[in-house]
Amino acid sequence: MSLIEIRDMYKIYNPGENEVRAIDGVNLTIEHGEFVAIIGQSGSGKSTLLNMLGGLDKPTSGTVIIDGVDITKEKDLSELRSAKVGFIFQLHNLIPNLNALDNVEIPLIGTGMKEKEMKQRAKYLLEAVGLGDRMKQKPNKLSGGQRQRIAIARALVKKPKILILDDSTSAVDTATDAKIRKAFREEIPNTTKLIIAQRISSVKD
Ligand code: ADP
Ligand code: MG
Repeated sequence: MSLIEIRDMYKIYNPGENEVRAIDGVNLTIEHGEFVAIIGQSGSGKSTLLNMLGGLDKPTSGTVIIDGVDITKEKDLSELRSAKVGFIFQLHNLIPNLNALDNVEIPLIGTGMKEKEMKQRAKYLLEAVGLGDRMKQKPNKLSGGQRQRIAIARALVKKPKILILDDSTSAVDTATDAKIRKAFREEIPNTTKLIIAQRISSVKD
């Protein structure tokens, strides 16, 4: 069984006169452990597709099967979001009044892990993305690229089954990009990765 199967997906915003056909009949199958890149210009429907995969929005028609479950029919997607899919959004949704370390720790809360272990794990991942010296800073004191890296560390902290990156490395320099790729290889070698970008250079690996 494939990990992800999208069948005949349509997403039409504002049906009627001003409708936007953001997704127009997409079929896509992704196997366990695959690394898939989707490239397209701004407004081509990339974020819409990923939001549907993550259960953040429902398609107008079609099905999305993840790990054997049709998520378009599920009412409660909290398990999918918390256990299976690590999301890194274009806008990284960090919590402004928490420092970098606490932001990365959030997904571990409620897992039964001890506070000390959670801190260690979060610290380790911040170091992996090159932010070891910025752990106590709040997001608004950091650059866009640094905030993206916090979001990346946060998405890796629970070793998700699926990692979705929406234009996530667009604002980081080449050296940092290499660090992040290394973290992906070492931390989550078996995770299925879906990355979307505007430029082919972002996905050249
Ligand atoms: P991309 O991520 O490739 O830049 P999006 O998926 O964000 O593209 O958007 C695809 C199209 O759908 C665009 O034309 C955009 O304006 C439109 N769109 C996205 N979200 C909404 C929304 N919530 N309501 C109406 N139109 C939307
Ligand atoms: Mg987008």
